[in-house]
Amino acid sequence: MATPTSLAPVLSSHWDAERSWTLATYEANGGYAGLRKALTQDPADVVAAVKDSGLRGRGGAGFPTGLKWSFLPAPDGGPRYLVVNADESEPGTCKDIPLMMATPQVLIEGSIITSYAIGCHHAFIYVRGEVLHVYRRLLRAVEEAYAAGYLGKDIMGSGYDLDITVHAGAGAYICGEETALLDSLEGRRGQPRLKPPFPAVAGLYARPTVVNNVESIASVPAIVTGGSDWFRSMGTEKSAGFGLFSLSGHVARPGQYEAPLGITLRELLDMAGGIRAGHELKFWTPGGSSTPLFTAEHLDTPLDYESVAAAGSMLGTRALQIFDDTTCAVRAITRWLEFYAHESCGKCTPCREGTYWLKLVLRRIEAGQGTMDDLDVLLDTCDNILGRAFCALGDGATSPVTSGIQYFRAEFEEHITAGACPFDPAASALFP
Ligand code: NAD
Repeated sequence: MATPTSLAPVLSSHWDAERSWTLATYEANGGYAGLRKALTQDPADVVAAVKDSGLRGRGGAGFPTGLKWSFLPAPDGGPRYLVVNADESEPGTCKDIPLMMATPQVLIEGSIITSYAIGCHHAFIYVRGEVLHVYRRLLRAVEEAYAAGYLGKDIMGSGYDLDITVHAGAGAYICGEETALLDSLEGRRGQPRLKPPFPAVAGLYARPTVVNNVESIASVPAIVTGGSDWFRSMGTEKSAGFGLFSLSGHVARPGQYEAPLGITLRELLDMAGGIRAGHELKFWTPGGSSTPLFTAEHLDTPLDYESVAAAGSMLGTRALQIFDDTTCAVRAITRWLEFYAHESCGKCTPCREGTYWLKLVLRRIEAGQGTMDDLDVLLDTCDNILGRAFCALGDGATSPVTSGIQYFRAEFEEHITAGACPFDPAASALFP
C-alpha cells in the first residue's frame, strides 16, 4: 500500500477560501457531490463503500467506521439515530473545532450521507458547550442546508427525509465519552453507561444509534465521491486515508496539518518549521494527554495505529503537544492530572479517588516536598486505576504518569533530592 508523505489536502482543502463556512463557497468547491451520488445508491452500498475504505474512527479509538454502522440491528420500524460527537475536549486536541468553523457544511453533508446509509431520520450534533462560536456556526449552517433542500422532507427529490438538531452540552470532558454524551443528550447528568450494550444496539432513548466523531463523518463525502480505493491509496494498509494532525506547544508554526496516516513527527515538524529556535525536542504526546508520552527517540515512528501501539503509545486524536528542553516534565504531568481529577465524573471509585490522589502526590513532588516512596505510590495508584475504571477517562489519566516516570524518573528524583523544581517556568512559558 502506498504511503505518500504529502497529498493535496481534502478536509482542509478550502479552509482559506473567502467565507469558507457558507453553503455557496462549499458548493463552489464541489460540496454536496457526495450526497448527490449517495442518494442514487442503495444505502447498503454506501455502508459497504465506507467499510471497504478502511476509515477508522477519528475520535481517538480508531474503531472501523463502516463496521460500526453495520452493527446496527435490522430495521424494526422504530427510530434509529446518528449522533455526531463534537464534544472535543482532550488536552491538545483541537482539530474538530477548526474544521467545524471553516467548513461546517462538510459535517452536515457527511451526516446526511451517514443517516441515509443507516436508515436514520433524525440526527444530532452534540457540540461542546464552551465553544459558543462553533454552536452558532453550526446552527446557521443547518439553516442554510434546510433552505437549500439538503435537509427536511424529500431531500433533493429522493424521497428521503432527515432532520438535524444541533445540541450544545454544558462543558464537561466526560460528555465526550459516547454513553455519557447520550445521557446528557437525553437530559440527564452526563455519566458513562455500562457497555455492552454498545450504542449500536441500545443508544439514544435505548434505540440503535451510531455515534461518530466529527472528522470521521466529515471524511465520508470524499470517500463516496472518490471511492474506497482512492481512500485506501493513502496511509497504511491498516490505517488508511488522511487525517488532521494538530501540532501545539514549542513548535515554530503550530496548527492543523492534514497528512496521510503513517507520516512521522519529523516530517510534520519539517512542515511546521521545527521546534522553536534554539531548543531541542524533549517529549510529546502522539494523541493527546491520554496517550503515553513519546520522546525524541520516536521522531521517526510512523503515526498510524499499529506503529504507535508497537512503540508503546496510542495514535489517539493525533494531538501532538510538543515540549522542548525548557519544560519540566513533572510540572506538565501535574497540570494534566489536575485536569483529569477535575473532570472525573465521580461515578467509579478508581477514577474519582485515584485521579485525586495522583494530583496531590504529583503536586507535592513538583513543589519539592515529595519522597522517593511517592514514586511507588504514583505507580501503584495507576496500577489500581488502569483497567478498573468505568470508562477510558481513568485509564487515560494514568498514561502521562506511567510514561513520565518511565522516561523522566531522574527528573522526578531531582525534585525530591533538591527539594525544589530545577526548571524556570518562565523559560517554558506553557505551564504558568
Ligand atoms: P472504545 O474502543 O471502547 O470504543 C470505540 C468505539 O467503537 C465506540 O463508539 C464503541 O461503541 C465502538 N465499539 C467498540 N466495540 C464495539 C462492539 N463490540 N460493538 C459495537 N460497537 C463497538 O473507545 P472509547 O472509550 O469510545 O474511546 C476512547 C478513546 O477516546 C481514546 O482512545 C481517546 O483517544 C479518545 N478520546 C478522545 C477525546 C476527544 O476530545 N476527541 C477525548 C477523550 C478521549
